[in-house]
Formats: sequence, structure tokens, C-alpha cells
Amino acid sequence: MERTFKKKSFTEYDVVVIGAGHSGCEAALASAKNKSKTLIINISLDNVATMQHGNVLGGNVKGHLLREIDILGGEIGANTWRNAINVVKSENGNNEEINNYRFTVDKRRYSLFMKNVLESQENLDMRQGLVVEIKKIKDGFKIKTSDCMSYGCNAVVISPGSFLNGNIFWGKYRIEAGKQGEINSKRLQNSLEDLGFKFKKAFTFTTPGIDGKTINFNMMKRQKSVFRAIMSSNNVKFEGRLIKKSFITYIKNNDFGNILNSPRAGNEEIEKIFSDYLIKIHKRNNGLIILQPEGINTTGMYPENIPMAFSEKEQLKIIQNVRGLENASITRPGYGIEYSILEPLQTGINMKSPVYDGIFFAGIINGTYGYEESAAQGIIAGINASLYSKGLGLIDMKKEVGYTGILFSEISLGDKTTPIDIVDLKSMYNFKYDFFEVYKELYKILRFIGRKKEIENMERVYGKYPGL
Ligand SMILES: Cc1cc2nc3c(=O)[nH]c(=O)nc-3n(C[C@H](O)[C@H](O)[C@H](O)COP(=O)(O)OP(=O)(O)OC[C@H]3O[C@@H](n4cnc5c(N)ncnc54)[C@H](O)[C@@H]3O)c2cc1C
Repeated sequence: MERTFKKKSFTEYDVVVIGAGHSGCEAALASAKNKSKTLIINISLDNVATMQHGNVLGGNVKGHLLREIDILGGEIGANTWRNAINVVKSENGNNEEINNYRFTVDKRRYSLFMKNVLESQENLDMRQGLVVEIKKIKDGFKIKTSDCMSYGCNAVVISPGSFLNGNIFWGKYRIEAGKQGEINSKRLQNSLEDLGFKFKKAFTFTTPGIDGKTINFNMMKRQKSVFRAIMSSNNVKFEGRLIKKSFITYIKNNDFGNILNSPRAGNEEIEKIFSDYLIKIHKRNNGLIILQPEGINTTGMYPENIPMAFSEKEQLKIIQNVRGLENASITRPGYGIEYSILEPLQTGINMKSPVYDGIFFAGIINGTYGYEESAAQGIIAGINASLYSKGLGLIDMKKEVGYTGILFSEISLGDKTTPIDIVDLKSMYNFKYDFFEVYKELYKILRFIGRKKEIENMERVYGKYPGL
């Protein structure tokens, strides 16, 4: 039976979402589409759904995740499709599967379009502000911002990304930041600790940005663009696109060995994590580097697969040892970031805290890595926060529910010693993708929450599958 609430004043909401990153945006949209009065608060409204570093979505395994979120009514697949400036196919892939396509998006446009989708969503308000406190009150929570605003809500989705006590570093330089160029968030973590939540440190690393004018593209191989790929969303039309080229190159003469021998983060623990991370990425990619265009109206390119946190001088030496980058100049140095994530067992398979009914966590605060992984958590956290605020039962994402299911399993049980990445989970769980079974489970969820438009979409696209 639905709970009844007194009429809400303009600072009272069913659901408040903290952070408008890839998880927060999906959470807020899902909650508002579920007819809950929703507020999303972000440090800066000019930085909604930003990409800190890479701008490629989909591909191996992640493509399935994009599709699962899309079926549930999420926005990441549609926004990827609208803003893709290049689509390439995996070398050995089967054309018929979504996970064989990688979509390079225009970073700035992706962020602006997502902001506009939020602005246009009924039942959803947006506010710029830094959340500094979450207070438990009778029947809900009070959310306070640094400019002394206070918002009441029944449920809160906490999705602050890498901002909790974030510190970025390159070489021996270190500054407090949530990502390069943005302040971090300290008091929110203190407030969560006062509520009893426990945190640990996590690390990740980014690659430097390169000035496209200084690259010798003749020394590289152009990646073949695909014009009519399987779409990353069933909910948008193909309206043509401007293509910007991406290129393949390699590190010369095994120079990568030198990188591994010279981490310079200035702290043994971080250095070990850094070199393990580089080894993992390089084993996965065999020294291959892909140069991706950052957008239509910029000459910026970023090299995939070469994250680093050395001093700028050292970064330049390494970059200039890549074929075609001999005279390249760096526009933005790569950097490492140290930030806080929840210790294990504080988020359930429904994204809810096992201790506080009404508190949901989504995104890399749960120890994950990846835009798609964050979005998958966001959509379920948003749906469940809305269901909770209506006094209804929550959705548990069990292992059987595709990659979203195994991601949630790992979040709820995993030890979080390394960032949880869906590509690693595929082999860990020895997961064989059975479309019929996964889509049937997603269809059941849509029927449970009564999402008419998404149910119709699914019947239109997958109606031929038995059980739908
Ligand atoms: C440096 C770095 C590089 C990464 N590169 C990639 C990559 O190339 N590809 C990839 O797939 N994944 C990447 N990731 C992994 C990660 O999945 C992404 O960071 C993803 O953006 C996380 O989504 P999120 O929603 O959890 O957080 P974010 O996207 O970081 O969003 C968090 C939002 O919360 C807001 N916020 C924080 N605290 C508060 C507060 N107190 N009050 C109000 N607002 C607040 C911030 O302003 C921000 O907008 C990277 C991570 C980091 C840290």
C-alpha cells in the first residue's frame, strides 16, 4: 500500500540525490520518472556528467551494461548515441552484438546534453551547492549545503564520485581536489562518519591530454569508423553524425618497462598500486595506445591506456617515446587521485545501506570503476529510493540479472581491494550472457515498477523473445 505524505514545501522532496555525475544523473532521472518529487544537488551545475579522462563508452562487456541500463529507461545509452563523434568495431567482433562497438563521445556536448535532459525532466529540480551534512530526522533526512540551505527528504542517494577527501598528485605535487580543476568534498564524509559509515582510501590514475596540432598522424593507423552501428540505445533515432578520427599507435622499444621502474608518487603504497594498475592495463592491451579525439570543436586528443602520475617533464619523455608523438606537447598532465570509498558490506544488492533505511549509495563511492558501472548503480538506486519513499518494496539485483546483477553482487560482497570493473568480473564470475534470460528479468522489473513507456519500447524491440 502507498504511504501518504503531507504536501511538500519547496525545500521538501521525496528523494534528494547528492552529486550529478554518471550515477547521480541516472538516479535523479529514475526517481523523477517514477513520479517522486526529486532534487539533485551538484557542486557546479556547469559540470554535470563530466568525463574526468576517457570519453569512450561501450565495447567489451560494457556494451551489454549500456543496453541493460537503456532497457530500464536510463539515459547513458541515448546520450552516448546522440553525442558520439566516432564509432568503431572491435577487431574480431560479431556485428550483431552491441558489445562489439565502442562509442567516442564529444565530452563537453555529452555533459551539456545530459544537463538539458535533467532540466527537462518533470518532477526534478536542480541546485548548485556543496552538501556538507546529512542528518537523520524522524521519518527521513535533512540535507544541508555549505550556503546554509536545508532540504528535507524521505530518501537520499549519495553519489559524490571521487570527491570525498579527494587529493590529486603528479610527481611530488599534491593538491586537494575532487578531480583536476574542482574542489573536493570533506565535510560530507565527516557527516557520514558521524552516522557510523566507515571509509577507506582508493586510487586511480589518468592519462595526459595532448595537443592534436603536435601529433604526427601519418605514423599511426586510423581506426575504421562504422557508420551504421548497432545503437547504444533503442530510444533514439540515427540522425547522422560528424566523424572525428581516432588512431592506433604503440609504445616504442618496450619503453614501457622504464615507466614501471620509475613510479614517482612519493609513497610506497601508492607506487605499488600505480604499477599494478599500469601492468594490468598494459597486459590487457599489449602496449597498444589509441588516440581519441576529445570533441568536435577542440584539437585535444587523449591517449587511451597510458595513465600516469609522474612530474610533467617525465610524462613528456614517456609520451614522446610513443610512435607519432615524438614532438607532441601535453596540454593537461595526467594525474593520480586518492579518494575515499565505503568499506565493504555497507551497500546491499538494492544499493541501500543495510543500517539506514532511506540511504542509498551509487557510483565509485561503492568501490567501482567506469561510467557504465556508475550509471547502472544510479538507475537502480534512484528507482529504489523512489520505491522506498512511497513505502513500497525494493528491487534486489540478483546475479542472474545480467552484468548489472553481477556488478551489484560484487559491490555487496566484494573486498574492494582493487576497483571493481565489469570487464574483470566477466571472467571472475565465468558469466555467459543469455539475452533471453537477462531481458526477461529486466522486463519483470519494468512491470513491477509499472513503467509504461519502457515496457512498450521493450515489447516493440524484443517482442519476439518468449516470455516478454
Ligand atoms: C580521475 C578519474 C578518471 C577516471 N577516468 C575514467 C575513464 O576514463 N573511463 C571510465 O569509464 N571511468 C573513469 N573513471 C571511473 C569512474 O567510474 C568515473 O569517475 C565516474 O565518473 C564515476 O561516476 P560517479 O557518478 O560515481 O561520480 P562522478 O562522475 O565523479 O560525479 C560525482 C559528482 O558529485 C559531485 N559532488 C561530490 N561531492 C558533492 C557534495 N558534497 N555536494 C554536491 N555535489 C557533490 C561532484 O561535483 C560530481 O559532479 C575515472 C575516475 C577518476 C577518479
